[in-house]
Amino acid sequence: MKLRFYKYDLKLKHTFTIARNTRTTSSTVIVELEHENITGYGEAAPSSRYGETSETVCKFLADVNLDSVKTPFEIKEILTYVDNLAYGNNAAKAAIDIALHDWIGKSEKIPLWKKWSLTANKIQVSSFTIGLDTPDVIEAKIREAEMFPILKVKLGTKDDREIITRIRSITNKTIRVDANEGWKSKEEALENILWLESQNVELIEQPLPSSQLNDMIWLRQRVHIPLIADESVSRLSDIQKIVGAFDGINIKLMKSSGLLEARKMIYLAKENKLKVMLGCMIETSIGISAASQLLPLADYADLDGNILISNDPFSGATSNNGLIELTEKYGIGVHKR
Ligand SMILES: [Mg+2]
Repeated sequence: MKLRFYKYDLKLKHTFTIARNTRTTSSTVIVELEHENITGYGEAAPSSRYGETSETVCKFLADVNLDSVKTPFEIKEILTYVDNLAYGNNAAKAAIDIALHDWIGKSEKIPLWKKWSLTANKIQVSSFTIGLDTPDVIEAKIREAEMFPILKVKLGTKDDREIITRIRSITNKTIRVDANEGWKSKEEALENILWLESQNVELIEQPLPSSQLNDMIWLRQRVHIPLIADESVSRLSDIQKIVGAFDGINIKLMKSSGLLEARKMIYLAKENKLKVMLGCMIETSIGISAASQLLPLADYADLDGNILISNDPFSGATSNNGLIELTEKYGIGVHKR
């Protein structure tokens, strides 16, 4: 079994700003896992929020030794070995997980969503992300995103009300808000959320820093719209902790360490009456197509990372005005452009 990986710089169509940072490019790492003339593709789209960069991903992957592995069908054993190599590094681990799943689907000649007995007839429309910017530029972006029925608006600044007022002056479509931990006190978050409720916002993602879990419990008792955990939940072991503080979780393969654990997270979330959002980083069609395989299980979809970039080297599942179609292509269903 051969494991190859290389860094690839993604070019963003627009400068992308959230409460934490701003960027025009984003590095990703593509993984190719070859065995018996079948290549499984994987991707690690690292986030500095979780201590990862393309350099840490490459360093982690260089330490992965699959010499003694006979077949990718030993996926559970392989991923346990990979997980135990080092703490964290969840995007790097996800790259191996996705490549193994892709390989298995290709080898068995089946798309993953079918292998998992999911049906493609109940898929939520994906939101389209509007990053932070001046109100004028945001207005231009909203007009450009006219074909997308659901917008996910990044907030967490002093201009939040001006941004939403401007957006509401031009459209009545569904708005989801992601504060990206940008509101610093529970009182500030409460005031903002009550106002956002009056602006017909559907949900709020991560109002407070992940460290403020008790404040989230306080906040949740005082607002009405769903509060979704993103930065507060990476992996399976994080879910139980946030019950009572949030109404749902945003699962991303780059946080969960891949598809195997993401599937377990979905079922544990549902057992705990938490809504499930499937989200993404800025990533290629590899990451998006992999996450899309789980779409039939999601209450909310936020898989637009590949349409925010202009140089996607792969083609696969993609948001077409918010609609993501699951295909009959094997594995995660991607091919090189
Ligand atoms: Mg988020």
